[in-house]
Amino acid sequence: MLTQHAGEAKVFAGGSHLTILMKQGLYQPKALVNIKKISELKGIKYDAQAGLSIGALVTHREIETSALVREKFPVLCDAEREVANIRVRNMGTVGGNLASGEPLTDLSQIFISLDGKAKITGPEGQRAIPIEELFLDFYTTSLAEDEILTQVLIPPLPPRSGVDYIRFSSSSVVDKPSAGVAVRLTLDSGTETIQTARIVLGCVGATPVRARKAEALIGGKQLTSQLAEEAGSIASQECSPTSDLRGSEQYKRAIVRTLVKRAAAKAYERATSS
Ligand SMILES: Cc1cc2nc3c(=O)[nH]c(=O)nc-3n(C[C@H](O)[C@H](O)[C@H](O)COP(=O)(O)OP(=O)(O)OC[C@H]3O[C@@H](n4cnc5c(N)ncnc54)[C@H](O)[C@@H]3O)c2cc1C
Repeated sequence: MLTQHAGEAKVFAGGSHLTILMKQGLYQPKALVNIKKISELKGIKYDAQAGLSIGALVTHREIETSALVREKFPVLCDAEREVANIRVRNMGTVGGNLASGEPLTDLSQIFISLDGKAKITGPEGQRAIPIEELFLDFYTTSLAEDEILTQVLIPPLPPRSGVDYIRFSSSSVVDKPSAGVAVRLTLDSGTETIQTARIVLGCVGATPVRARKAEALIGGKQLTSQLAEEAGSIASQECSPTSDLRGSEQYKRAIVRTLVKRAAAKAYERATSS
């Protein structure tokens, strides 16, 4: 159906994002392809080799309340508790969250820090890409118009790893974040030296971005509070926040700096005690 109505059709999952844009007149698709009843796109599974697979139609609320996700990747359940409000969490899906290319979201940062992949299906067959490669620009993804995102795949967390996600919302009411930082650290076996570092910044640019210079700074070292501070400082220059209602550019860089420092310290604490 997407091929048949190429350029004029939109996938409809939970509709929480699409309906708003349609009401605002920003999208006026001639056809909506409702995928909600495709059972293959549902469910959360874990396999010791392949890791966690989350179907595109899994809702935020299902992740938040999943005992399996809580056991394997508690950081996802904790993050979901802060996403939007319960109404949106009941409707909104993981597939829609990623495929919308909306920059003010939470899950993409965490998925990227965990080396997650997006499984995509279209007329040419299936492909899997690192989630980082899904995002091209504001509301623009690398999905072709006749492709659908089917699953998110997260490999098993390597031993001696710690993960943390912190988001900051400048408003006291439920709001999309001003910034969200995910950090995953994996240590060399038997030591406290960081072997792999992932520092992913969200909501501070058109797409989520890895702070590669900050990652390189802490890689191969033991994390001290001074090093975490320096990593935050460097990371705050590796994003491109815009000044808007959620804060000025300068304010958001200061937030990133603090969140990276705190998330790195927490991830390191979790890795060293794992
Ligand atoms: C008030 C409000 C607050 C929010 N706050 C947050 C927040 O704090 N954190 C956060 O992370 N998110 C937040 N969101 C975003 C929310 O997570 C998304 O709206 C939701 O996940 C989208 O899922 P959906 O199934 O409703 O998508 P839909 O609205 O159905 O679709 C969204 C877009 O993705 C496309 N699409 C959907 N599924 C697929 C698929 N499987 N394959 C290909 N394309 C697809 C659609 O064509 C459309 O372009 C908020 C949204 C609202 C309305």
